[in-house]
Amino acid sequence: MIRKLLRRVFRRGEPSPHRAESISVDRHGIRREQVSPAARRVCETLQGAGHKAYIVGGAVRDHIAGIVPKDYDVATGATPEQVHRLFRRSRIIGRRFQIVHVMFGPETIEVSTFRAAHDADTVKDAHGRVLRDNVWGSIEEDADRRDFTMNALYYDPTAQTVLDFHRGVQDIQRKTLRMIGDPRARYREDPVRMLRAVRLSAKLGLRLDPQVQAPIREMAELIDNVPSARVFDEMLKLLLSGHAIEAVHRLREDGLHHGLLPLLDVILEQPLGEKFVMAALASTDARVRADKPVSPSFLFATLLWHEVLADWEARKKDGLPSQPALFEAMDEVLDKQAEKLAITRRIVGDIKEIWALQPRFEKRAGKAPYRMIEQPRLRAAYDFLLLRAESGEAPMELADWWTEFQDASHERRAEMLLPDSGPKKRGRGRGRKKVGAGETAAATPAD
Ligand code: ATP
Ligand code: MG
Repeated sequence: MIRKLLRRVFRRGEPSPHRAESISVDRHGIRREQVSPAARRVCETLQGAGHKAYIVGGAVRDHIAGIVPKDYDVATGATPEQVHRLFRRSRIIGRRFQIVHVMFGPETIEVSTFRAAHDADTVKDAHGRVLRDNVWGSIEEDADRRDFTMNALYYDPTAQTVLDFHRGVQDIQRKTLRMIGDPRARYREDPVRMLRAVRLSAKLGLRLDPQVQAPIREMAELIDNVPSARVFDEMLKLLLSGHAIEAVHRLREDGLHHGLLPLLDVILEQPLGEKFVMAALASTDARVRADKPVSPSFLFATLLWHEVLADWEARKKDGLPSQPALFEAMDEVLDKQAEKLAITRRIVGDIKEIWALQPRFEKRAGKAPYRMIEQPRLRAAYDFLLLRAESGEAPMELADWWTEFQDASHERRAEMLLPDSGPKKRGRGRGRKKVGAGETAAATPAD
């Protein structure tokens, strides 16, 4: 501790190699009224209590690039406890890196204390990945720790200036993503930065600085060492960014798709699968850009569906009956995925429901269709069927039938039913594994 303090005091006397340039409104172009009032209030309150406080990171970058930010982060010289005491509706979260969530109406502003530079005391794993550090520092140190130059911008809503430590404003204007420091070293510290580079470049239409791009292909495998829950978070951000198609193409170009997501390996190599996934991503992108809600479960269900299909087919060929073959295939695909990317349990449950309902669309005789339209997850499963039909994997006639059946009158529905045909399945469904609430009526003998 004393060593650290001395080092910091010592460093304070040196000229900082990264003195900030103060950029005025005519160059950064952020009008105060565009900025979230909640984020402004947080800064003003902190400043009023004598602390430095700035809007920082992606929100500043997005404003300068002319995009409306999704959320706002604030960086401050106040400690988490000091921040917490200033805001009634706030809470300290996180153990590794404590930050404070300040709630203002529907908005949550994430407030973090300036963090110190890494040093010899920083705990790293065998590959150089940073595991733990939680030391407060100066704003300069905080800026140095951020990943890309355009993410190290600090907007002061009171002075209306942007502090730019690494020429990030210029990089936004030149549409070039540049790393702070040596890209290889920064990827080693945190391999997720490779995914962030791809995501941000897709979102903002940036070119990667050659030094940012070049090491990715050879360092991609370092992502294996990152906890799978974190990879999932980052992939989710990427897929729900509104620029997923572009991002997936870039992942492939940069050699980041292999092994990272088994689904990316597969979809980009199977013609039918690729068409299906691209249709799903295109519709997700369109929804995100139109500010409509999107469902991560639906998206992951589409991304992995062709893996399930292939596995299901193989099991049926081996002589397993269709239904248990499907359930085994679902588990196999999800387990394999979980090694790299931890899909949360709730999402896994939803994905399984969507998949498990697919074969039931084929049952168009007797009572089965009536039971189907009572399913709580019908809407998602039906949207999924539409995508399958659009990509040519399911008959369009089947999708059209369900489109009509759902809205048809009682009489019309009765006319639409197909004649009961095929051998009755004996005892199917009894005591079988259920997938969830939506699945209770599945494959009963009457189906
Ligand atoms: P988005 O628009 O998706 O929110 P973002 O850049 O704001 O993009 P966040 O994950 O919200 O991404 O991170 C906020 C800020 O924290 C970043 O702008 C960057 O300054 C810093 N940051 C985030 N992740 C890292 C990382 N892995 N390494 C270094 N700095 C990071
Ligand atoms: Mg952000």
